[in-house]
Amino acid sequence: MTSPHATIIGAGIVGISTAAFLQRAGFAVTVIDRVPPGEGCSFGNAGGIAFAEVVPTVHPRILLKIPGWLMDPLGPLTIRWSYLPKALPWFLAAGRNAMPDRVKAITAARASLGLRVVADFETLLKSANAHDLMVYQDTLRLFDNEKQFAAEAGERAIKKLYGYDTKRLSAGEVREIEPAVSPGVHCGAFHGGWYFVSDPERVVKSIAADVTRNGGTILADDVSEIVTADGRATQLRLKSGALHSLDRLVVCAGAYSHLLARRLGDRVLLEAERGYHMVLPNSGVSLSRSITYARTPAAATPMKMGLRLAGSDEFAGLDAEPNYARADALWKNFKRILPGLREPDSATTRWMGRRPGTPDSLPVIGPSKYVSNVWYGFGHSHMGLTWGPTTGRLLGELMTGAKSNIDLSAFRVDRF
Ligand SMILES: Cc1cc2nc3c(=O)[nH]c(=O)nc-3n(C[C@H](O)[C@H](O)[C@H](O)COP(=O)(O)OP(=O)(O)OC[C@H]3O[C@@H](n4cnc5c(N)ncnc54)[C@H](O)[C@@H]3O)c2cc1C
Repeated sequence: MTSPHATIIGAGIVGISTAAFLQRAGFAVTVIDRVPPGEGCSFGNAGGIAFAEVVPTVHPRILLKIPGWLMDPLGPLTIRWSYLPKALPWFLAAGRNAMPDRVKAITAARASLGLRVVADFETLLKSANAHDLMVYQDTLRLFDNEKQFAAEAGERAIKKLYGYDTKRLSAGEVREIEPAVSPGVHCGAFHGGWYFVSDPERVVKSIAADVTRNGGTILADDVSEIVTADGRATQLRLKSGALHSLDRLVVCAGAYSHLLARRLGDRVLLEAERGYHMVLPNSGVSLSRSITYARTPAAATPMKMGLRLAGSDEFAGLDAEPNYARADALWKNFKRILPGLREPDSATTRWMGRRPGTPDSLPVIGPSKYVSNVWYGFGHSHMGLTWGPTTGRLLGELMTGAKSNIDLSAFRVDRF
């Protein structure tokens, strides 16, 4: 008997993890992407395996901060005003999802996705002989003053409810474990049991190489159309002119996924939440862990290629030119807390990537409502590295009819 076949659109962390878990579930797989594995949004993230981030991106405290952020064109959140009318339905839905009852339900759903993140990562990285890319190291959040620390008490309490406790460190204790941090720091919140990856692109490329070793095909092409007949997806029309026949299809196309889903009748609110990074191979700063700084949502992570400063959230659509001044703003921000940080030099790189953002900070994981042989895995926003492998495992379970241990209803495609 021949194996069932699955075609996956998208070779980011989500699509490649899905391919790898579908192989384990007995599928032959083909992954199609217009760029090589790990060169979309998954290329440049902050590397945090952030399963303890259970509180959604938009919640009441953040809602109050948004007007102030929007006043600063290089602040952590920006909207290109000409783009606002297009993004308005998304923002209205995000506002509704910031209400306390919704935040509670979304938090529970996010926590359930986090339960097996480490095990799922280990499954894939061990098999790919790339386990060394996953670094087991506690993380540290830094504060300028007591008001900043107190403002996050509610979020820390919610995390604690889900088993993710933090410990307050004095300025001296912070500098004991991270001497590069400014003596002017007020205090820190220490999260134990954390992981980060030392090269996000290499993570995806290593798993992709394993998928190929196990008989999978990775095809470089652009999917321009999904052809359907009698409620099934039958073929993909590719930019090269080729037609690719389908048995089952999984859409893991990151920030472009809604464009494909829409053609199948599934309406999804998805916006590109454009993030930036700066990598300084000669940073002058030695950190042993990934740190975040409460003044602005961003992380500084020691990676194989240098110190990566990553963050920022820009709503400007898929195609607008990057504004690399936003990457420079990350440098200015971290310079306050890492005084030894050197000026960017000729080895410094800047990057922009499109996070696939839903207005409820939850991904879409599950079948199409209208087309019987299509599944979705996208919309992971700020958490795609973290939830990518688990999404792949869950899709493997769903597509083989295995019952999942967690309630997947919060991730349905027809919730928008
Ligand atoms: C600055 C920044 C920091 C971040 N930090 C973290 C972090 O610390 N931890 C964390 O968990 N997450 C983080 N994220 C989020 C994370 O990187 C994303 O959620 C994740 O990469 C999304 O993965 P993906 O596979 O869905 O999308 P992608 O990696 O973008 O992959 C989708 C792929 O689909 C392809 N594609 C789309 N349409 C088509 C088509 N029609 N035909 C062919 N190919 C197509 C694209 O070329 C792309 O390669 C961060 C993101 C940014 C920008």
